[in-house]
Amino acid sequence: MTEVITKQEREEAFAMFYGMAASIGELAEPAPEMTDEERVERAKEVFLKGIDNNVAVQLDACVHCGACAQACQFFLGTEDPKYTPIHKLDLLKKVYKRELSPMSWLNKFLTPDITADDLRDQVELVYDSCTMCGRCNMVCPSAINIGDMVALNRSAMAAAGLAPAELRYMRDGQEADGTIFGADEDLFNFRIQDIEQKLGFEIPIDKKGADVLLMTSGLDIHLFADATGGAIETLHHMGVDFTLASKTPGYEGANFGSLSGYDATKKKLTKDSTAAIEELGVKTVIVPECGHSYPALRFGAAEAVGRDVKFEVMTVSEYFGRAVMDGRLKLEKKDHPTPIALHDPCKVGRWGGVFDEPRAILKACGYDLHETESNKQYNFCCGGGAGNFLLPSADKLKRVGYRIKMGEIEATGAEELVVSCGSCRMNFEVGKVKAGDSMPVESLAAIIAAHLPQKDKAEGDRA
Ligand code: SF4
Ligand code: SF4
Repeated sequence: MTEVITKQEREEAFAMFYGMAASIGELAEPAPEMTDEERVERAKEVFLKGIDNNVAVQLDACVHCGACAQACQFFLGTEDPKYTPIHKLDLLKKVYKRELSPMSWLNKFLTPDITADDLRDQVELVYDSCTMCGRCNMVCPSAINIGDMVALNRSAMAAAGLAPAELRYMRDGQEADGTIFGADEDLFNFRIQDIEQKLGFEIPIDKKGADVLLMTSGLDIHLFADATGGAIETLHHMGVDFTLASKTPGYEGANFGSLSGYDATKKKLTKDSTAAIEELGVKTVIVPECGHSYPALRFGAAEAVGRDVKFEVMTVSEYFGRAVMDGRLKLEKKDHPTPIALHDPCKVGRWGGVFDEPRAILKACGYDLHETESNKQYNFCCGGGAGNFLLPSADKLKRVGYRIKMGEIEATGAEELVVSCGSCRMNFEVGKVKAGDSMPVESLAAIIAAHLPQKDKAEGDRA
């Protein structure tokens, strides 16, 4: 593997980036001015549009068993009943009961309408204290999809002008020019040229008709060039006909419309990416090590354009893991004397079902993987998913989530942690600084590249 970014460069970039990220809320444009009546009206409009038969059945299905509370890191870490997952849907349920349920004619008289203060109280519950990780969904005997309905709540908050300033800032920037964290085309091209120089081969850009498009993200461009560089080096090693795109809808995998609750932005960004991908004519898109970019494109593309799309979407660990499993990618088994742990990003693992692939990669590299007590479908979130790693207001809760997760990791005896999501990685790095922990956190894509066989041997393998 060729080192595309040194440990020291990464630490310096992290310190600078962390300082920048901590103040983005101050850079946000003021939220649109609205009267309290307008806020309520807009939020209710979103709630009512989102309550279809499926949602209605779920809102009526809770048997009050309390299992979801025991699944949620924010309840477990605080024991505060307000963080019980199902309570995060109370406002939505109230609107349903008053306006749409079979007994709405009576409930209208018995239950007061929601207020703007109710909406303001809801902000902490659906942003700061919920990463839409979906762990509570897994244990609910009534199969209530709380994570999805929290997303509907975020949409209502955004419509009411109450989305957190940090997420508004990120959404506004990406809505305006497709970039996040200022990772514009100049910076992207600078980073790719730098990687190209270090790897020593030409990286294909905007190659029409290539088999594979590799996307990246602003976080990787700024901080985690080892993840992008690792994926590029591995594709090159495998002899894959791949390309990157030089313009934003084609290279940026993140979607801050989806995280902030601005559904129109989410749809626009996915539509723009889909158009750029289809224009290139690739068969497969590899989204970067960025948890939410996976469902945003994989499950959102067809919905955004209203038809089937002409490409398949995989995440980095899925693409390379399958190649390892079917023998297209041979990795060099090395001697790793100390155990490692793996964090499955919620949106890739629990939402996307990608579990076997990263494990196949680590096994092929010779690692002794120690699973955390809660793993795969029951894996705990890193604590900062769904954009929460950017919210200073969620700092205490993020630390609570981090402690639970890191506690399980430390209990495995592992001396290194592998992740395949830049936001998770960022949250672990910040958590480590705040807690004084020292567990090294590495990118799975970079690990793959570090285990590529020597060139001569690889050519022999391929022959
Ligand atoms: S989705 Fe995750 S963070 Fe949100 S309530 Fe459920 S378990 Fe808690
Ligand atoms: S686990 Fe499901 S049924 Fe039990 S309290 Fe939570 S939402 Fe209700």
